[in-house]
Amino acid sequence: MVEWRPVRPIQVRIDSAALRHNLGAAKRRAPRSRIWAVVKANAYGHGLARAAAALAEADGLALIELEGAIELRRAGERRPILLMQGFFSPQELEPIAAHGLAVVVHDAEQIAILEKARLSRKIAVCAKLNTGMNRLGFGQGDLGEALGRLRSCAGEITLMTHFADADGKRGVRWQLERFETMTAGAKLPRSLANSAAILRFPETHADWVRPGIMLYGCSPFPDESAEKLELRPAMTLSSELIAVRKLGAGDSVGYGCTFTASEPMRVGVIACGYADGYPRHAPTGTPILVCGKRTRTLGRVAMDMLFADLSGIPEAAVGSPVILWGEGLSADDVAASAGTVSYELLCALSPRVPVTEVG
Ligand SMILES: *Cc1c(COP(=O)(O)O)cnc(C)c1O
Repeated sequence: MVEWRPVRPIQVRIDSAALRHNLGAAKRRAPRSRIWAVVKANAYGHGLARAAAALAEADGLALIELEGAIELRRAGERRPILLMQGFFSPQELEPIAAHGLAVVVHDAEQIAILEKARLSRKIAVCAKLNTGMNRLGFGQGDLGEALGRLRSCAGEITLMTHFADADGKRGVRWQLERFETMTAGAKLPRSLANSAAILRFPETHADWVRPGIMLYGCSPFPDESAEKLELRPAMTLSSELIAVRKLGAGDSVGYGCTFTASEPMRVGVIACGYADGYPRHAPTGTPILVCGKRTRTLGRVAMDMLFADLSGIPEAAVGSPVILWGEGLSADDVAASAGTVSYELLCALSPRVPVTEVG
C-alpha cells in the first residue's frame, strides 16, 4: 500500500486543562460571585459542548444562540443557561420556557411579548440596563415600569448591565454609578462584570460575573498580557511547512507581490490561510513560530497558505512545526499585529480545521 498523509497538517488543539485553569483564575478573582461562563459563538471557537464540559465548575452558561442552548439541554446540561441577547420573536418563547432557559430582556416590546404568551412555566429574566454602552437596555426613565411589568409576567429577575470600556481609559466607575442610582432599593441579584471588570474592578463583581475571553486564555487588555494575568491559552492553531524556498534579492512572494526580498533569504510556505480562520489583513511582520522560534509572516495571506521568514531558522524544512497562535505565541499578539482583537481570531476559526482535544 502507498503511504499517504491522511490530513492536511493544520490542526487546532483545545486544552481542557487550560479552560479549567482559567475558570479557576476567574473564581479566585471573584470569590463571592457566581459565574456565568460565556460560551457564545461556539465558545469563542473552542466548541460549545467541549467547553461546557471543561467548564463544569461554572455555575451557569451564557450565550447568544438559542439552538446552542437547546443542544446543551439535550446533552443533559442542567445548570442555568442565559440567552444574552434575549429572544427575537414570540415563537422562541415556548422552547425557551420548556428548556428552562433564562433570557435577557432589554426593551418594552419584549415585555409585551412575554405578557401575551401562554407559557408552561415562567421564564427567568435578566433586565438589561443601558448605563452608557448605548446598545441595548432600559434607561433611567423606563426601568421602573419595566420591572413592574416583569414582576407579573416573568420568573426570577436579575439586574444586568455591560461595560463599554472596562479594558480601556474610561474604566467602569461612570457606568457603575449610573447602575447603582438606577437600581437603588431594588432587592434583586445583579450581574455586571465581563473579563476586564473581573480582572481589574472587584467593586463590579456583584452576584454573577460573566467571563468570556479570559476563560479562553486571552487578555481583554491591550496593555497587559495573558501570561502576566496567569491565563493559559486554550486554543493552539498549528500547521507545518509544506514548502521551503530561497529568494534572491528582488524576488517577491504571494498575491500582489507585497513583500520583496532585499537580499537572499529562505522563506517557508505554511498550510494555513484565511479559509482556516487566519486573518487575511495580518500584514508582513505578524508574529509566527517556526520550529518553536518566533519569526514573522511575509506577504499577503492567501486562502490556504501563508509565508514565514526562515532567516535565523536554518533547521526549518518541509514538515517543520508551525504555531499560528496558542502555546508559545498569544493570539493577542497576532491579533494586535492584524489590527484586531483575539476574540475575532478565536471565533473565526474555520470548521474545516480538524480539532484535537487534550487535558
Ligand atoms: C460577550 C459578553 C461577555 C463576555 O465578555 P468578555 O470580554 O469576553 O469577558 C459578557 N457579557 C456580555 C453581555 C457579553 O455579550
